[in-house]
Amino acid sequence: MKAVIFKEHGGLEKLSCTEVPEPKIDPSEALIRVRACALNHLDIWTRQGMAGITIPLPHILGCDVAGEVEAVGSKTDGISKGTHVVAAPGISCGRCQWCQSGWDSLCDEYKIIGFQMDGGYAEYVKVPIQNLIPVTEKYTWEEWAACPLVFLTAWHMLITRAQLKKGETVLIHAAGSGVGSAAIQIAKVFGARVITTVGSEEKEAFAKKLGADHVINYRRSDFSKKTRELTEEKGADIVLEHTGAETFLRSLASLSKKGRLVTCGVTSGPAVQLDLRFLFVRQHAIIGCYMGGRAELNEAIKLLEDGRVKPIVDSIFPLEETRTAQQRMLDRKNMGKIVLKVA
Ligand code: ZN
Repeated sequence: MKAVIFKEHGGLEKLSCTEVPEPKIDPSEALIRVRACALNHLDIWTRQGMAGITIPLPHILGCDVAGEVEAVGSKTDGISKGTHVVAAPGISCGRCQWCQSGWDSLCDEYKIIGFQMDGGYAEYVKVPIQNLIPVTEKYTWEEWAACPLVFLTAWHMLITRAQLKKGETVLIHAAGSGVGSAAIQIAKVFGARVITTVGSEEKEAFAKKLGADHVINYRRSDFSKKTRELTEEKGADIVLEHTGAETFLRSLASLSKKGRLVTCGVTSGPAVQLDLRFLFVRQHAIIGCYMGGRAELNEAIKLLEDGRVKPIVDSIFPLEETRTAQQRMLDRKNMGKIVLKVA
């Protein structure tokens, strides 16, 4: 089958589109004929290599897969060949206390497709049968591929972790990013007032269209000052952080008293120096978030099927142009998800 692989960690030049053997499934697995696979920042970190994490090499990236079931192992679970599916990106044991209580991503055996195992930058990918989520034809393959990771993450952050309540103000970073564009829509469905940030004028209109009430161009004004202005100096009840070093301290400064900061990513760097006095005096909560549980993903998919939130596709590239696609994400040019079209 055709796949984009890398044999060693490094830059974009390590990616090559080539022929590799099709994955072999065991009785508990299914083979998906990949139609589309979305890009995530995780793909970049995985390609570059991360200290302390062993990635099997050669490696196929990609955790956001949409396609048709090509074959299922013996435990079919009622899903047959040809079923349209997206793959839940996280794999866990299903038995431990974390899995049993809906905290799949805390499972000791938790793995992400395309990260610790081969993923969807390929014509076929294998996943455990329980990771198959049947979907309707409401959206195109590229649109479905744009959904799992970012809608799961945004749901977990806003609904499960921050416990967003109607009427609260949420500051969401980077409307153009996958998580940002999903989070804005989910926050609006739950009745929040949304402030978001963008880095260019064309992204301002995009953010408004997603439903944001206020859009701050972070290149022209300080988002923290602006957030305080927009909230009569109170600050936002919730800040959704996923950029890290560049924004984290000003994100904290944007919070209201008793505000909650949820964080899931460090695209601008992982280290910050915190003045704890402000944290305890203002009684802030900093809440770490990593992926989410299968039940949360099902809830998010339901919102998508009902049309209350929508997949946001920025651009579509063939597998052969994966390097260009990843470069676009590195350049922060995207408005929504960048997707590889596979067949
Ligand atoms: Zn488990």
